[in-house]
Amino acid sequence: MSAAELVQRLLREPLRGSHPYGAPQLAVPVRLNTNENSYPLPEPLIEAMAEQLVGVLAELNRYPDRDALALRADLAGYLGHGLTPAGVWAANGSNEVQQQLLQAFAGPGRRALGFVPAYSMHPLLAVGTGTEWVPGSRAEDFGLTAAAAVAQVRTHQPDVVLLCSPNNPTGTALPLDVIRAVLAAAPGLVVVDEAYAEFARPGTPSALTLLPRYPQLVVTRTMSKAFALAGARLGYLAADPAVVDAVQLVRLPYHLATPTQVIARAALAQAKRLLDTVGVIKQQRDRIVVELRELGLTVADSDANFVLFQVPGQGSRDQVGCWQALLDRGVLVRDVGLAGWLRVTAGTPTETDAFLTAIRAVTAQVTGLARG
Ligand code: PMP
Repeated sequence: MSAAELVQRLLREPLRGSHPYGAPQLAVPVRLNTNENSYPLPEPLIEAMAEQLVGVLAELNRYPDRDALALRADLAGYLGHGLTPAGVWAANGSNEVQQQLLQAFAGPGRRALGFVPAYSMHPLLAVGTGTEWVPGSRAEDFGLTAAAAVAQVRTHQPDVVLLCSPNNPTGTALPLDVIRAVLAAAPGLVVVDEAYAEFARPGTPSALTLLPRYPQLVVTRTMSKAFALAGARLGYLAADPAVVDAVQLVRLPYHLATPTQVIARAALAQAKRLLDTVGVIKQQRDRIVVELRELGLTVADSDANFVLFQVPGQGSRDQVGCWQALLDRGVLVRDVGLAGWLRVTAGTPTETDAFLTAIRAVTAQVTGLARG
């Protein structure tokens, strides 16, 4: 028996034969496949980070602040909504925050419900924590009504419900009445993944506004997107302080490195300057939506820094062919495994130009072929 076969036999049953999460990291001129912020950090922020990092290097013989209290105070200040450090928790990316939530509130013998298509890490985090994953459904147009969500919650009685708003990969935010209805029906924790909240269209309220009324609600956020800090790995949650206390039971001691805490705090101190790129990215997002619709493609409404669109060709389900055709033109987008759909990140105006030029060419070719 080969080592690979042996390892497969020793693996936990739900992990056998499965593949790790990860989009291709290809060296392509235009990379619009992982919803990163295309803008590098502003120079004054880089300088502040460098200075503060140097300040802590001599202390790296010591463990970091285990409770990350100063960082949590800064995050609470950024979020507002009357939050205090006791109601905020941080970890290495919101992926880790969500993993901790599942470790504490789900796990073996328990069940988590999400409404797919949604963030593809949610089921993987469930499997990784030994949680039963229930893939709930959405309408044909990816919408989710309060009635449909509540019916599924009642049927499955999940220990944790994972909502994603704005939703990845569709881009659309959930109306608050859907979240309220789920909170009223759910027997357990309700997590709202707001990784893309800063990009929402005007008038889209955050689930943070519901926190005072619902102690079973958790809102997760990240500095990987709007804050352009994907490489720093900083995610966080806001919830009742009792939820934050519960998460302490499963977090690893000293999980958040001193440099990570310092970098995140430096970024929060310059949040206004850093978030300047959000406006530009939203413009590019809206431009992509409008121009793809002008091309005749079906496009989901987006409150995020990406757009989900149906590939050219009447009723085409061949997103793989379109993905490859765009890649051949130097543009990398994301195949999220939805037949006939692709997701593109909104970045700089130049990146949008490149993507739109490529998709126009692909569309012309497909419709030309259909006519010819
Ligand atoms: N939630 C959603 C919906 C995401 O799209 C992502 C990143 N792709 C994350 C959470 C995780 O982000 P991070 O771990 O970088 O905070």
